[in-house]
Amino acid sequence: MDGGRPVIGDGTLDPSDWPRLRHQAHRMLDDILDYVENVRDLPVWQPMPQNVREQFRQELPEAPTDIAVVHDEFLRYIMPYATGNVHPGFMGWVHGGGSVAGMLGDMLAAGLNANLGGRDHAPIEVERQILHWVRELFGYPEGASGLFVTGTSMANFICILVARTAALGPEVRRDGVAATPTHLVAYTSAAAHGCVTQAMDLSGLGTKSLRIIPTNPNYQMDLGALREAIRADRAAGMVPFLVVGTAGSVDTGAIDDLDGIADIARDEKLWFHIDGAYGALAILSPTLAPRLHGIERSDSLAFDFHKWGQVQYDAGFVLVKDGNMHRRTFASPAAYLRRETRGLAAGSPWPCDFGPDLSRGFRALKAWFTLKVYGTEQIGAVIARTCELAQYLKKQIERSPALELMAPVQLNIVCFRHHGDDALNAHIVAELNEAGIAAPSMTTIKGRLVIRAAFVNHRTQTSDIDKLIAATLVYGALKEAS
Ligand SMILES: *Cc1c(COP(=O)(O)O)cnc(C)c1O
Repeated sequence: MDGGRPVIGDGTLDPSDWPRLRHQAHRMLDDILDYVENVRDLPVWQPMPQNVREQFRQELPEAPTDIAVVHDEFLRYIMPYATGNVHPGFMGWVHGGGSVAGMLGDMLAAGLNANLGGRDHAPIEVERQILHWVRELFGYPEGASGLFVTGTSMANFICILVARTAALGPEVRRDGVAATPTHLVAYTSAAAHGCVTQAMDLSGLGTKSLRIIPTNPNYQMDLGALREAIRADRAAGMVPFLVVGTAGSVDTGAIDDLDGIADIARDEKLWFHIDGAYGALAILSPTLAPRLHGIERSDSLAFDFHKWGQVQYDAGFVLVKDGNMHRRTFASPAAYLRRETRGLAAGSPWPCDFGPDLSRGFRALKAWFTLKVYGTEQIGAVIARTCELAQYLKKQIERSPALELMAPVQLNIVCFRHHGDDALNAHIVAELNEAGIAAPSMTTIKGRLVIRAAFVNHRTQTSDIDKLIAATLVYGALKEAS
C-alpha cells in the first residue's frame, strides 16, 4: 500500500494517475498468479475467524478508498478464506479448479465489458463459435441453438420450458399451464440432481408431475420401470412429455443408458433431455466418450464448462436440437429491441431470444481461451486422469481394513466410509476440512452417510489421495479411541 491520493479521476471513474494505476494493476495480477502457482502450499480451506467475518459488516462506503488499500483487504480477508476449489486437495461436490488461461480470458472480458444479450459485435461471434464447437462435439445438427448460462440448474430449467412449449404449443406462454386441460408428466431417475425437480416447480408444471424412476445397482435409471410408469400414467389419462436422463450423476458418477432412453423417448414421443452437468464433457476423452453413446439422440443437453471443462465460474451451457422451438419459447417483440439488417442492431437472432436473460456477460471468452490455449485433447486427458485418480483411491480403500467402498466407481467419484457410525464419518470430514488437508464432501448412500471424493481439478495427484487416506485413518482411529 503506497498511500497518497486515491487513484480516481476527475469527474469520471478513470484513474487520474494512469502510471500509478498500471503499477497497482500489475501487482494485483502478480499476487493472484502467486496464489495459483503456490496454492498447493496453502490449506485447502480454512474456517473464517470472527474478526475476518466482521470485515464484511461495514457501513456503505460513501468516501473513496485507495485501490491499493482495497486490494490489501482482499489479500488479507478474502483470498485466504475462499472455497478452496483451486487447490488440488479439493474433492467436495463437483467443483472445477479453473485455469490460468481461463482467468486471464475473464480479465480481458471484464475490460471489454461486452453485453452479449444481442447486437452485432465480435464477442457474440465468439459465443457462436463455441456453439458451433459444442454442436460438433455432441453430434447436434446445424439448426441446433445454444448459449452460455450461469450453470446447469438454469440450463435444465430452460430445456424444460422448451419441452413444455413443444408439448403445449407457444400459446402456453400467453395462457399459462393452468389454462390447459393436459396434465403433463415428466420422468427422471432417483439419482438425478435436485435442480430437475426445481425446474418442474419453477416452470409451473409442479414437482408432483415429476416421476422419480428407481435406479439399478449401478445407479442408472431402470428402463423397465420407466416404461411401466409411462404406461400407468397414460392409463390414468396423463400426458407423458419429457424424460430427463443423467450423464454423470452427482452422487456416484453414473451415466444412464442414453441409447436405451432415446429408444423409449422415440417410441413414446417424449422430449429427451440430458443433464450432463459435469459428465457430458467426457466426450473429450477418447477412452470415456463411448460411455456417452446416445447423447447425440437427445433433444436438449445441459452441461457446465466450469466443472470438468476447467473454465472459471460461471459457465453453464444449454444446447437445443430444434433451435426454432427454443426461440419460440423465449423470443418476444419489444420496440427497444428492434432488429435491423445493418449497423449495431443487426445480427438477429440474438442470444436474448433463447433465454430469460437480456444483459449477459462475456462468459464465452474464458471458455474460448481455455479451449484454444489447452486444446481439447489436453482437457480430455485431464478428464480421463481424474477417473484414474478415482480408481487409485478405490484401490487404497480396498487395501485399508478400516475403510469400505460404498458405491461402484464408474467415473471420477468415490463414495466410501470408515467403519463406525454416521457421526464418526461426519467427524472425519469436518476434521479433514478444518485441518485444511483435503476437502471431500458427504452424501447418503443406502441410508448411510458416506464420504464422497469427486476428482475434477486438473491439479490433483495421487499424493493428494495418499494424504486424504492417511488423515482419514488417523482421525478415524483417534475418534474410535476417544
Ligand atoms: C453440478 C450439477 C448440477 C447443477 O449445476 P450448476 O452448474 O451447479 O447449476 C446439475 N446436475 C448435475 C448432475 C450436477 O453435477
